[in-house]
Amino acid sequence: MDRLVLCTGNAGKVAELRALLGTTIEVLSLHEVGLPLDLPETGDTLQANALEKARFAYQRCNIACLADDTGLEVDALHGAPGVFSARYAGEEKDASANIALVLREMIDRSDRKARFRTVLALVTAEGEYTFEGIVEGSITRAARGSGGFGYDPIFQPVGHERTFAEMDAATKNSMSHRALAMRSAMDHLTGLARR
Ligand code: IMP
Repeated sequence: MDRLVLCTGNAGKVAELRALLGTTIEVLSLHEVGLPLDLPETGDTLQANALEKARFAYQRCNIACLADDTGLEVDALHGAPGVFSARYAGEEKDASANIALVLREMIDRSDRKARFRTVLALVTAEGEYTFEGIVEGSITRAARGSGGFGYDPIFQPVGHERTFAEMDAATKNSMSHRALAMRSAMDHLTGLARR
């Protein structure tokens, strides 16, 4: 395998994967293979959504496809927002509104445990594979920090004093759920590239 399509509309994720894979595998964006940026995700799990996006793209371009889906899972909210993380407070996918809703729902909760989970799905001629990355942490009492994106201002990883939004990008990216999932996908991909 020498080429891979990263199924995301996010140019930052494409650049990140290119940097990780170096020259072993050429990383293409959806745009570069002529596919829409907003792929269907109708599943009710992160795994189902990641597989749906990777299969959709693979069936159309016939090049190995890698897709991701991420959710924030809060124990006191029975795993919500989970697979609904992007649209938790509405179809506008507004990060501030999503954060405000989680903080409101957590206002009188003492159990603040939560985790970020990323599932990556890889669809190739050889088969389908999934990889997972999890970061355990807690929901803060108020939003803190201006870095990152999404729920970063209210998520404090275990063993750290700062939220993801208070860390510099390199620190967050070195420990993030996406990085962990990507690392296990990379081990697999570099194995395939050697074949
Ligand atoms: P997606 O699967 O990357 O589209 O993310 C789904 C939802 O989770 C969106 O609301 C994102 O803002 C949020 N999200 C994904 N990754 C992160 C992260 O690393 N930090 C904070 N929020 C994230």
